[in-house]
Order: sequence, then C-alpha cells, then structure tokens
Amino acid sequence: MNIHEYQAKQLLSRYGVPVPRGGVAYTAEEAQSVAADLGGHGWAVKAQILAGGRGQAGGVKLVTTVPDVRETAARMLEAKLVTPQTGRDGEQVKRVYVEEACDVARELFLAMTVDRSTARVTLMSASEGGGDIEVRAAREPEKIHKLALDPVTGLSSVQARETCEQLRVDPDQAQAVEDTMRGMYDAFIDLDASLIEVNPLVVTRGGDLLALDAKMSFDDNALFRHKEIEDLRDAEDPDRLERARHGYNYIRLDGDIGCLVNGAALAMATMDIIKLHGGAPANFLDVPPVASREQISAAFRLVLADSRTKAIVVNVVGGGITRCDVVAEGIGAAVKAVSRRVPLVVRFEGTNRDIGKKTLRDLGVVFVAADSLADAAQKVVAAARRTP
Ligand code: GDP
Ligand code: MN
Repeated sequence: MNIHEYQAKQLLSRYGVPVPRGGVAYTAEEAQSVAADLGGHGWAVKAQILAGGRGQAGGVKLVTTVPDVRETAARMLEAKLVTPQTGRDGEQVKRVYVEEACDVARELFLAMTVDRSTARVTLMSASEGGGDIEVRAAREPEKIHKLALDPVTGLSSVQARETCEQLRVDPDQAQAVEDTMRGMYDAFIDLDASLIEVNPLVVTRGGDLLALDAKMSFDDNALFRHKEIEDLRDAEDPDRLERARHGYNYIRLDGDIGCLVNGAALAMATMDIIKLHGGAPANFLDVPPVASREQISAAFRLVLADSRTKAIVVNVVGGGITRCDVVAEGIGAAVKAVSRRVPLVVRFEGTNRDIGKKTLRDLGVVFVAADSLADAAQKVVAAARRTP
C-alpha cells in the first residue's frame, strides 16, 4: 500500500525527519489560504498522486505570490497528471500540497527498503538525488551506495558515518543526516513499511536539512496492526472496503477484458494467455477457494459494473473446496443484480463442471462455453473486439 507525499511527511516528521511546513488542499481556495497561513514569499504547489516523476510532468510548481498559488492549484486540480510512473492515462489530481519553498543548495537521495534475499533493511544513499535518479541509477548503479542494516541493532554509528561521507555532507550537517536516517529507520520498523524514499533530501543555502519529497509503502500483510495507515487507504478507495469484506484480491489494470479466476497462479496464467492472444485484461481477480456464492457474486458484480469491461472470462478449476456449481450460482446472482451485459466466456473444469454449466443455463445466464484455457482466451479476445 502506498500513501501520498504529504501523508508520508506527516508520519516521518513524527520520527524527527525534518520536513518543510505545509498543508493539503482540495480546492484552489483552500490552497490559497494554506499559502497565506504559511506566510513567506515562495511556495511549492505539489500534485498529490500515488506516483512519482511529478516534477518533470508539471506536477510540482514553485510560485511567489498567493494568487499564483491559487491559480496553479486550480490548474492542477482540474487535470490528470501523466508521469512516467502513472501509465498513459495518467492520474486525476484530487488534492495538492502547498509547502513553504526553500532555497536548494544540494539534492541528496536516501531510501530504505527490504532486501528480500537477506531479509534485511537496506539503506540506499546517493550524493546526487533529484528527479531522474531512476534513470541515473540504471546507468551508473555504483553511484547508489547500499548498506544492510542489522535487524537487532539497526543503523550503526559506523554506517551512519560512512553514509555521511558518501553523501559528502559537511561535518556540521552530519548529525542532522544521521538523525534523519534514524528517524526513517524507526518509522520503517514501527510502521511495517516496505519502502521509505526521500528524494530529494536537500541541504538548503542556509545549511538546513529538509526532506523535500517523501514516499512510503507499507506491507499489506501488516496493515491489520496499523489501523491509522489502513484508514488512509480506505478514504482513498471506498471500493476496497467492499473488496476486503468479501476477501478477494482485485487489482485494476488497463485493459478491457474482465477476469474472474480462482487462484492467484491461475489468474496470472489467464492474464498471460489473454495477452498472448492479443487481448488486455481489465483486472486481476483471484477469488479464494473457500469463496461462497455471495463472494463470487460480489466479485462478478465488481467486474461487470466496470464500464471499461467489454467482455468477461471466467476461468474456474473446481477441486478441493471450489465447486463450479457454486461459482455458477454466484454469477447467476450477480447477473440478476446488475443490468449491464457484456459477452461472457466460461471455462469450467474439475469438480461439478457440467452441473456448473447447467446451473448457469438454468439461471438464464447467456455465455459461451470454452473447453481449455487457450480456447477461453481466444473466445474472450474475439468477443471483446466485437463489442463497441
Ligand atoms: P517528484 O518529481 O514526483 O519526485 O517530485 P519532488 O517532490 O521530488 O519534486 C521534484 C523537484 O522539484 C525536486 O527534485 C526539487 O528539485 C524541486 N522542488 C520541490 N520543492 C522545491 C522547493 O521548495 N524549492 C526548490 N528550489 N525546488 C523544489
Ligand atoms: Mn521526488
């Protein structure tokens, strides 16, 4: 789970990471009053979307008058922002963050993530932070310095000193940099983060250290013990509550073929084979083996109600606890509840395969039967193409 920059800054500042003063705004008027309240002569207006690369895409603007804050915010709030990380459709900007601007002398990079091969937190640092760090890191990986942190003792003084040297910070800033790293680490451990990235961490002309940008991701499996963070996400995505209630994995994708599959591996295989046949999945949806009729119905309604869905493929292999007839009943209930119709291709295999198909027909569900994964993919891709 990812959170917005301003949310990450709020959390990090509690751990002693220095951040500029700022406030979030949902309207241009709010942005204007945030700037007026902050005072000063310069502000950064920053689009809050869950993707980076905003700077180069026009999502970060520096302005010097309060009316300019308002106009800049108004422009950002009515547009979608397309950055290298959003995909081509971009992301609608729903709020902006207004901060006091600062005079940047140097931009550094600090990040922590979990190295899955050693299960340790890795501290990453670079003396030249800023917008295109990903590109530069790919070109010159040696410029990103990596240190594994000990799970018991955390960041050692030796490691802190080594990082400060690598960042080439002045001796009188070293303590602030070390405190920032410790704050990031404490936040990382306390909040079960999977990533904390501060890029840039700046040294101002006045010699102060400030986290000018912050990104945080959290381990979904630990969210149950961080209600406060989970609440940030629920506010973002009301559908998620519904999904969590029904206990299935649903991820929206860019395509137009809805997929309902039992099992994550089968769902991935289904997506791959749809792509192989020239189609594009609209979602990843994996219903658990113990899914009830109601869960299946809720999942199917979600896929059907998505206006981008041009055709749906159901790929269910009964076995263990999953029974095709139960899945069929769930689909039947969903079709009854939602008036929207798109072509439906069903592949049932395994337990109660034939009863499942009969159940669908008895419930009046119009569908095309497929008898293999490839057959299902071919049929659903063709159906999606025919749908206007
Ligand atoms: P990102 O492009 O999504 O990572 O957004 P950032 O928050 O990192 O902002 C992009 C760039 O804008 C930073 O690397 C800075 O160079 C610049 N920037 C942001 N805020 C300020 C500010 O207050 N003063 C100055 N001078 N530059 C800023
Ligand atoms: Mn950044």
